[in-house]
Amino acid sequence: MTKSLRLRRIAAPVITNFNPSNYWLDTVQMPAGTPSELPERADVAIMGAGFTGLSAARTLAKRGAKVAVFETNTIGWGASSRNGGMVLTGMKLGVETLAGRYGMDATRLMYAASLASIDLVEQIIGEEKIDCNFSRCGHLEVACKQSHFDTYARSVEVIARECNHQLRIVEKNDLGSEIGSDIYYGGMVDEVSAGLNPARYVAGLGRSALNAGAYVFENTRVERIEHASRKGGSGFQLITSRGQMCATDVFIATSGYTSKTTPALQKKIIPIGSFIIATEPLPEALAHELSPRNRMIYDSKHYLYYFRLTPDNRMLFGGRAAFFPETSNTIRRSAEILRRGMITVYPQLRDVKVQYAWGGTLDFCFDTMPHAGRMDGMYYAVGYAGHGVAMATYLGAKIAEQISGGLEENPYANVAFPGAPLGLYNGHPWFLPFAGAYYKILDWIS
Ligand SMILES: Cc1cc2nc3c(=O)[nH]c(=O)nc-3n(C[C@H](O)[C@H](O)[C@H](O)COP(=O)(O)OP(=O)(O)OC[C@H]3O[C@@H](n4cnc5c(N)ncnc54)[C@H](O)[C@@H]3O)c2cc1C
Repeated sequence: MTKSLRLRRIAAPVITNFNPSNYWLDTVQMPAGTPSELPERADVAIMGAGFTGLSAARTLAKRGAKVAVFETNTIGWGASSRNGGMVLTGMKLGVETLAGRYGMDATRLMYAASLASIDLVEQIIGEEKIDCNFSRCGHLEVACKQSHFDTYARSVEVIARECNHQLRIVEKNDLGSEIGSDIYYGGMVDEVSAGLNPARYVAGLGRSALNAGAYVFENTRVERIEHASRKGGSGFQLITSRGQMCATDVFIATSGYTSKTTPALQKKIIPIGSFIIATEPLPEALAHELSPRNRMIYDSKHYLYYFRLTPDNRMLFGGRAAFFPETSNTIRRSAEILRRGMITVYPQLRDVKVQYAWGGTLDFCFDTMPHAGRMDGMYYAVGYAGHGVAMATYLGAKIAEQISGGLEENPYANVAFPGAPLGLYNGHPWFLPFAGAYYKILDWIS
């Protein structure tokens, strides 16, 4: 292990007494879906009741469309209730990478959309009076190596010049005012990012879609979608576990849980597990020491850690500990790995109990970009790559506006949507262990 990585292995007791469940869900009452039978026909059928689907349903219903959302499980069951609640500026890929691929003009639009997406989340929360602890607390990225820190100055300069957005460098000597850990080489702060309780937010989005008149059918899986035109009709016929329904338009909002129901889209999405632990509530003084400004924090590795305090002062600590999606096995293994990681960052938490551990599935596309548009006549928005709280809300609303006849205001409309190299992927991510090993090696050498 290289010294620069500073991954000091600290012997940590095995976790024996934690609740393998999602902390956020203990803070919320999810709204119940629509109890009635399916209508015969809707203007728009939406698959998936997470941020994307519910934001779209809210927008469409407010514009007078008849909307039916189908959800295999319950409102917010997917990544939308399981995430870190970090509402971040920018995208997974940095501005320079984006500019190299798509040109600076397109990059500026994408960056502006990332800022607008946070404004939209704030606006919806205000309009719908969603009680979800939204706060513009800012985010802090911390450098795991000197070479990572050295890239920050250039990023700050490029983002200020090209995107008219200001970030701030924090030298190692000053990092104590941002984080109670001495393992990092410096940081970069963006004051515009925000934090929220994602389960309360998705519950609020669900309530607002229902209040606007959308149907939300829970425990209803879309099994098959047929083009009605092939039988002389128009639009689509959805065959669901609860019966059949026709719709003029279909919006696929299934993210990392996209399945064989939409095989063409499934082949373009890699479902990757991400896991989180939450400690018992910490004393106020300790919580303040760990995160004096209550930021949303993540590090500079590929196999990154992200962490924050919850409103009741728990340390919530997440990462891609196992690459495969959540099962009781991957959650248990990840909880151990994450606890070790947490103690490496914060030795102060060595004797603190971990009370919760859970996982969820991220949707990565092969180019690590969000994609929103039309495929096979159906609309979709996917590929948030761990940056979906704001962007899923935004693209859900933007595609909804497009469906209801508005302008196409989607900065990803012209981004080519690649499939797997050589077409070697049928939706089963057999290569994840290799990808996991690859990124670990990359973290060693880069
Ligand atoms: C552990 C974790 C931490 C994360 N942290 C952050 C973070 O801090 N900040 C950030 O910006 N992003 C984060 N993300 C990403 C973010 O949560 C997602 O990008 C976002 O929630 C995606 O929302 P969605 O509505 O598109 O999908 P989801 O919320 O995943 O919803 C998709 C839904 O589709 C349903 N579905 C699937 N197939 C069907 C079908 N055939 N019929 C009916 N329903 C179906 C599923 O049941 C599911 O409920 C994180 C994700 C995870 C897993």
